[in-house]
Amino acid sequence: QDRLINPNETATDAPDSNIRPALLAEYIGQPVVREQMEVFVGAARARDEALDHTLIFGPPGLGKTTLANIIAREMGGNLRSTSGPVLERAGDLAAMLTNLEAGDVLFIDEIHRLSPVIEEILYPAMEDFQLDIMIGEGPAARSIKLDLPPFTLVAATTRAGLLTSPLRDRFGIVQRLEFYSVADLTTIVRRAARLMGVSMSEEGAVEIARRARGTPRIANRLLRRVRDYAEVKSDGHVTGEIASSALDMLAVDRRGLDHLDRRYIEILHERFDGGPAGVEAVAAAMAEDRGTLEDVIEPYLIQQGYVLRTARGRVLTQMAIDQI
Ligand code: ADP
Repeated sequence: QDRLINPNETATDAPDSNIRPALLAEYIGQPVVREQMEVFVGAARARDEALDHTLIFGPPGLGKTTLANIIAREMGGNLRSTSGPVLERAGDLAAMLTNLEAGDVLFIDEIHRLSPVIEEILYPAMEDFQLDIMIGEGPAARSIKLDLPPFTLVAATTRAGLLTSPLRDRFGIVQRLEFYSVADLTTIVRRAARLMGVSMSEEGAVEIARRARGTPRIANRLLRRVRDYAEVKSDGHVTGEIASSALDMLAVDRRGLDHLDRRYIEILHERFDGGPAGVEAVAAAMAEDRGTLEDVIEPYLIQQGYVLRTARGRVLTQMAIDQI
């Protein structure tokens, strides 16, 4: 995925660590999530207890990892991070669990990709802070039970539908992140620009925000490319006009759609007569895999009202057809 507006993290996003908000008060937008987390974190802290296990879901780049970091920071614990696909063997999870201290946050990204064996170990750990695993094989096998310190599991997923219900039921707090408004993204761009030392007009920030498809990670990435453009083509100050020409050059249009989105819309229109078309068929026609369509392309097109997901397949809306 070489697209500039790929919401997944790429190597060029690494310098993000200094602009990532560290506290709830710096977490822009998502008012419902922020207000609830302020209450839950405040209450847990006052009782001197670990925060309830928290599940965060939403498309990539909307701030799930950031929120996990913030929770650990606000609770005064360490953050230990891993992800569903990385936890292959029971021992991997056992090692992480036994290294936790009271009040720590264990962050598991892509929790929907946990293997069933690992999930089974997670249940008693979440419910009773108990580790219960088998070591060895055959007659030498024995089961080990250990008490774990009270900790908080914060899990993130882009696909809430893929979680098993026993796992889902064990989270006391469930938060869904929404795509950000242009106003909130403008605030995010202004804040990042300030931290990066980029001088920018309000129009410049709005122009970037408008094309960032509701996603802070994309807004920050566009900001870096626009800064390059402003430095080379002008004096480094980002005006609305500079941002607009930079983004036109990068082929991100005014609605935040890029070539992949446009191809999706065109293929659905031309080859499938606007649908309904099965997601597998559309993916095959685009030579993309189904996961990319479902995780990266469709959420924004659906949220913006270009595409409907119906029982019979994907359908293009009149709004999308008008734009072609
Ligand atoms: P996810 O884990 O959902 O893929 P991240 O938490 O890694 O997304 O967020 C991507 C980047 O976007 C972060 O590094 C951060 O700079 C920025 N970001 C995310 N959410 C916010 C927010 N609410 N306010 C400001 N910046 C944010």
